[in-house]
Amino acid sequence: MIVGEHKPIEEIVESIKDFSNVLVVGCQTCVAVSLTGGDRAARSMTEALAHAFKDSKTLHIFENSMLERQCEKDWIKPFFDLPEGVDAILSLACGAGVQTMADIFKGIPVLPGLNTTFLGAQDAPGIFNEKCAGCGDCLLGLTGGICPIARCAKHLLNGPCGGSSKGKCEISISLGRDVECAWHLIVERLKELGKLDNYEKISEAKNWTPGGAGGPRQLIHPGETPF
Ligand code: SF4
Ligand code: SF4
Repeated sequence: MIVGEHKPIEEIVESIKDFSNVLVVGCQTCVAVSLTGGDRAARSMTEALAHAFKDSKTLHIFENSMLERQCEKDWIKPFFDLPEGVDAILSLACGAGVQTMADIFKGIPVLPGLNTTFLGAQDAPGIFNEKCAGCGDCLLGLTGGICPIARCAKHLLNGPCGGSSKGKCEISISLGRDVECAWHLIVERLKELGKLDNYEKISEAKNWTPGGAGGPRQLIHPGETPF
């Protein structure tokens, strides 16, 4: 899922301070799971903003609304009427959702309430870890289902590096928390799978074009017309 975190409230207040009727719009899909974009998050954000502006001399109205998915135009247009008088939208969706909303409501500023952080998984309640960097040419079949791009601090294809110690990555020191060395995990997993021969193969330099180095990516399903 796409994981997002709230922007600092001071940053949000600064971004909306010149508007008078702000609609907070949540998104019920990925960011709802990371507890930053769902119904409860939208309500709490609305309350926090009302509180932040309680002494303001200018009129500030905050309402909230919810969309199932802000990143799909078909999920927005038929299900969403912009309340009259709204002069800005604060979107609690990922960057794709914010941009889709901005495409639809062209005359109204759509501001991000979240920082989109990574593609991850919830490994324990409330604990999300990065798992994929969307490289466009997945290597998990060779690496025992553990991503060396997203989970190795150096994105190494032939690891581990000399910074791996007792199964931990050297980045643990600067992050102040234990981070598993992805390549340690890969080797251990390949052992379990009886596929250590995969580890013996030297990976060539990766082609990053499918990973975005070749420009914005597009996926068109057969039968669909590009626009
Ligand atoms: S190899 Fe690429 S596509 Fe596969 S999980 Fe890692 S970043 Fe994602
Ligand atoms: S210690 Fe492991 S995870 Fe960290 S950078 Fe080196 S190979 Fe990658």
